[in-house]
Amino acid sequence: MTTVGILGGGQLARMLALSGAPLGLRFLVMDTAPDACAGQFAPLLVGDYRDEAALAEFASKVDVATFDFENVPAESAEWLSRRVPVFPNPGALAVAQDRLVEKTLFRDLGIPVGAFADVDSLDVLRSEVERLGGACILKTRRLGYDGKGQFRIKSPADVDAAWEALGAQAATVGLIVEAFIPFERELSVVAVRSRDGEFRTWPLTENWHVDGVLSASLAPARIEDVLARAAGDYARGLAEALDYVGVFALELFLREGQWLANEMAPRVHNSGHWTIEGAETSQFQNHLRAVLGLPLGDTSVRGHACMLNWIGEMPDARAVLQESGGHWHDYGKEPRTGRKVGHATLRADDASSLAGALSRVGARLGRDTQVAPVVARLSG
Ligand code: AMP
Repeated sequence: MTTVGILGGGQLARMLALSGAPLGLRFLVMDTAPDACAGQFAPLLVGDYRDEAALAEFASKVDVATFDFENVPAESAEWLSRRVPVFPNPGALAVAQDRLVEKTLFRDLGIPVGAFADVDSLDVLRSEVERLGGACILKTRRLGYDGKGQFRIKSPADVDAAWEALGAQAATVGLIVEAFIPFERELSVVAVRSRDGEFRTWPLTENWHVDGVLSASLAPARIEDVLARAAGDYARGLAEALDYVGVFALELFLREGQWLANEMAPRVHNSGHWTIEGAETSQFQNHLRAVLGLPLGDTSVRGHACMLNWIGEMPDARAVLQESGGHWHDYGKEPRTGRKVGHATLRADDASSLAGALSRVGARLGRDTQVAPVVARLSG
């Protein structure tokens, strides 16, 4: 009996555990919160990731370890990797944890990125904002997610306010300033690489965000083949450079027919949730297969799929379940403002049927604005 250890016990760990059940796997999840939602399906070890006693107990009970949360301290992952195989490797995790290191690697690998600069003082911020043309985003280098730890600078006049908001973090997690990219579309490549170097991607996914948080994903994205191929090549180059094992997502902006990479997520990703029902093999199952050294499954899509995120509270499930391709995922979390509490996936054999289902669900739930950009894309 193989036990997979997962650091982080949120909905990603929960969906990993659910997808691993048919493989006969056992799981042990570690989280700092006693009510972590993966604990409803797998034994939960409550502890701090920096606590060596807790990590030692975790290591003694698992055959292989992985993550549902990229901000596990890299030193803890390193410590663990001396006792049990850890995938993705702690070095890859460390790169993905630091926006400056990550963007520098992208540039070195020939993956296009917007202009960016390291910021360690107000003076440097001021001169970089001038150099980058005024419209920028100041971000923490580490520990930011879902738009947190970010300040939008619209012109050099906002520099003092940006420093007021984030300057204190320059000495702790570091800061990076990026040119603001007036992109037309946001897409992601969700990819998987096995222990022996086999690499696969799911079809490109288009994503829509609200307040920096994913709202909807559509797959396959409606995009020219040449762009899709280039995105897949970037993901492959990145995976090989990092000797990456498991699933990851590469987030990309599309502007005037050109890609610009934003960041990578070293784990299964929200923009890949549609693969549970919309692909032959889901990102969760393939992540487990990769870390266990099993053959990877086919990543082909079944028709067209759209995932809608539920933020803050769950809507009425019946609005989705009455659709023939409607699938419901309730993470079993307490409702809270801004919290991802669940998602739905709508799947259909053709684009117009998916657009119809989305419009009906949007109308039933009073969420027309959430589905509108997806319906417009499908109808375009
Ligand atoms: P991140 O935490 O870097 O994924 O940023 C969250 C969201 O903010 C992204 O999905 C984009 O919608 C937006 N964003 C981040 N960086 C930039 C940028 N340099 N230019 C324009 N929008 C951005």
